[in-house]
Amino acid sequence: MEGLWPWVLILVCLPGLILGAPSASHCTGACGTRFSEDLTPEETQTSWDKDIPAINQGLIPEESPESSFLLEGDILRPSPFRLFSAASSKWPKNGGVVEVPFLLSGKYDKPSRQVILEAFAEFERSTCIRFVAYNGQRDFISIIPMSGCFSSIGRSGGMQVVSLGPSCLQRGPGIVLHELMHVLGFWHEHSRADRDRYIRVNWNEILPGFEMNFIKSRSSNMLVPYDYSSVMHYGRLAFSRRGLPTITPLWATSVHIGQRWNLSSSDIARVLRFYDCSPSGHEPSGKEKKQPKNHFKCQNIKTSFSTLLSSIQQCSKS
Ligand SMILES: [Zn+2]
Repeated sequence: MEGLWPWVLILVCLPGLILGAPSASHCTGACGTRFSEDLTPEETQTSWDKDIPAINQGLIPEESPESSFLLEGDILRPSPFRLFSAASSKWPKNGGVVEVPFLLSGKYDKPSRQVILEAFAEFERSTCIRFVAYNGQRDFISIIPMSGCFSSIGRSGGMQVVSLGPSCLQRGPGIVLHELMHVLGFWHEHSRADRDRYIRVNWNEILPGFEMNFIKSRSSNMLVPYDYSSVMHYGRLAFSRRGLPTITPLWATSVHIGQRWNLSSSDIARVLRFYDCSPSGHEPSGKEKKQPKNHFKCQNIKTSFSTLLSSIQQCSKS
């Protein structure tokens, strides 16, 4: 299996990168995709109580950091086709709101779909981000239940995969929020360049070979002060070799890190700063607001999440 995953992912991404967005004229928003989702069925495996690194290690066991298609446990390495795709990793802002088109796999059952839509709603409540049903846009995310939880950083150009396997949805929308923060351009909190003032990395407790998952870098996370409660923080036992902490908070030793419940206030603040916007979609500078209307047509869904569910219900009744 070693070395197979990158090629699998390239094949998965090619339709979007080379051919542009595939037609979805038959698609009614939160619907099935044509992309492969059967690479490794996850249903037979259980890791319900684990966080992202442990989930992914359990489901992708052959991976070592050097050969993995993932960085830091759940970040897709940039595609070699990236040079031909998006020039900016930010999603474009239009009139104060940032729309991220999505396709949602038809393989999700209703509870799973609900968890994902809850995450969309949290972004819509607190930020200018609007996850909108795919309607032919060039760049979009395709959310599918492959093995494990992972995504790219920022906008890749064309179609980009966000994998949310069943294990990623078992404890509510927290992991979805985490992966969507990656989609918006954010890295892990514990990897930011100033992290040594706030946490201690216990190098001797890290699984041999996985130390590279703790490399520091400057990132968009640093738009706000370090945040133990960020949904982008890994937990104390990330990549632990024998169940002892690999990450220890320095200033609040008993604080919980690795929460997967909601966006923290700092997470919200960094989204607003990165995209220079306000939760309502008003331009911070008072510039003209141009928020898209959410007119619904059964043949042409382009709407924000808050109306999507009722729209689908209307459709099914008609
Ligand atoms: Zn992550």
